[in-house]
Amino acid sequence: MKIVTDANVKSIIGNDGRVSGVEVESGARFAADIVCAAIGTRPMTGFLSSSGLMVDGRLIVNNRLETAAQDVYAAGDISMRQTQSGFIPCRTWLTAAEQGRLAGANMTGAGLLHNSAESFFNASTVFGGFYAVIGRFDAQEGGAAQNRVVSHSGDVYVKIVTENGKTIGGTCLGDMRSALSIRRVVMERGAE
Ligand SMILES: Cc1cc2nc3c(=O)[nH]c(=O)nc-3n(C[C@H](O)[C@H](O)[C@H](O)COP(=O)(O)OP(=O)(O)OC[C@H]3O[C@@H](n4cnc5c(N)ncnc54)[C@H](O)[C@@H]3O)c2cc1C
Repeated sequence: MKIVTDANVKSIIGNDGRVSGVEVESGARFAADIVCAAIGTRPMTGFLSSSGLMVDGRLIVNNRLETAAQDVYAAGDISMRQTQSGFIPCRTWLTAAEQGRLAGANMTGAGLLHNSAESFFNASTVFGGFYAVIGRFDAQEGGAAQNRVVSHSGDVYVKIVTENGKTIGGTCLGDMRSALSIRRVVMERGAE
């Protein structure tokens, strides 16, 4: 598998309905049997460009999902949360839905805080199999963070990530129940 970044596809090369390669805008060509392109998302925020509320085409919000404009909130893909460790975009369905609920509650004065990296949750199916990634599932091992594979048999794989003994994330394949349990533990700032 060859991963090519910072490249726009110019053309797909092939014969008789079968792909044989890709040409990118730099002119480079790559032989391929399958082509996957991941280009991200870009909200339509042109009308907000002079508002002074944006970074990278998204509305900057604090951990209450408030923008710098009074009584204006943003949730989901259009939002970019400003945290101590930098800007965090939304990126996923479940996070967008959770942010929508939280922003709505805060508009009525609830004063709820959005949990940062821990609340990340993405689940779907690939080739008919369930997968989920939770919280800081990709934390680099070493120092305080540890990866622990807790189940690995047949089509099931469950890994949790801990930091100083607390569960901060996980990865689950083929096991939805474990994914929901890990998420609950992570959101409650985890036990051992
Ligand atoms: C191809 C693709 C695959 C994805 N796969 C996954 C996945 O597997 N898992 C996952 O968790 N996430 C996935 N995502 C991301 C996920 O779809 C988004 O994070 C999520 O939908 C964001 O929700 P949202 O409500 O912020 O925005 P949207 O779902 O984009 O909703 C915004 C809505 O606002 C409407 N709108 C826009 N402008 C206006 C206007 N001026 N007036 C009125 N309405 C307007 C739009 O038509 C749209 O219906 C994927 C995204 C894409 C594009």
